[in-house]
Amino acid sequence: MMYDLIIIGGGPAGVTAAIYAARHKLKTLLITRSFGGQIARKAVEIENYPGFEKISGLELIQRFEKQARKQNIDIERDLVEKVKKIRKGFLVATTSRTRFQSKAVIVASGADPRPLEVPGEKEFIGRGVSYCTACDAPLFQEKAVAVVGGGNSGFEAALALTNYARKVYILEFLPQVKADPSLRELARRKKVEVRVNAALKEIQGEKFVEAVVYQDRRSKKTIVLKVQGVFVEIGSQPATSFVRDLVDFSKRDEIIVDHKT
Ligand SMILES: Cc1cc2nc3c(=O)[nH]c(=O)nc-3n(C[C@H](O)[C@H](O)[C@H](O)COP(=O)(O)OP(=O)(O)OC[C@H]3O[C@@H](n4cnc5c(N)ncnc54)[C@H](O)[C@@H]3O)c2cc1C
Repeated sequence: MMYDLIIIGGGPAGVTAAIYAARHKLKTLLITRSFGGQIARKAVEIENYPGFEKISGLELIQRFEKQARKQNIDIERDLVEKVKKIRKGFLVATTSRTRFQSKAVIVASGADPRPLEVPGEKEFIGRGVSYCTACDAPLFQEKAVAVVGGGNSGFEAALALTNYARKVYILEFLPQVKADPSLRELARRKKVEVRVNAALKEIQGEKFVEAVVYQDRRSKKTIVLKVQGVFVEIGSQPATSFVRDLVDFSKRDEIIVDHKT
């Protein structure tokens, strides 16, 4: 079947596009790996969504999915591997080996967490290394954990972790953290220990994470910090590889768009 429109992604952008496509009576397919996107990683309540004074990421995602499913559109839970140009439009291929065709495609695949790319990171995913505080914080009851990244997301992750872990560190590469003053104040009150100028070198352990190794960029000393959990909060990277051969990319793998169209 030839759809009018295929939307890739079920985060805020994809769901919004789906609502409008349905309203315009386009024959639409929404393909998404999951609903909610980056909101699923939100460690504390969301407080900047008009209409909700406070709402948890999970509740907002459930509302997104419910609203998307009420639209007159098709929905597939799948991962898009490739989008190709064909004569009459586009061919969208997914990991479950399904092929879909449409006249137009909206790429709303957002971003994935940026990895640390240090030895030990990949080996310990699910064994102490996490990219989702909202999902994994309760597993670190009475443990010592390090959050890598001193931005708002890092501080929010650290604050959520103080509800479970006995000790929470924040490791920031730069000489100062970038988080908002209100978050810094909350973290100070919750006794989160912030270490700046920390260049992460390695994650160590046997079966599970046992330590992170970083270099203090000022003193040049190598420091081994005994922790059982490492939460990665150093930003995100565009989830756009499936259109690499189709559109122009910036140096940071962002799709270059024509802002006039
Ligand atoms: C920790 C954290 C806290 C945040 N807190 C706030 C906040 O308090 N307030 C705020 O306004 N914003 C916040 N943000 C930012 C906000 O979450 C993002 O701006 C928003 O989610 C972007 O929406 P999006 O739909 O563009 O992309 P995303 O949310 O990234 O959604 C992309 C969707 O595409 C899907 N997808 C990706 N690749 C594929 C593929 N190949 N095939 C199929 N599906 C795919 C994903 O599964 C996902 O559902 C936060 C972000 C993070 C990481």
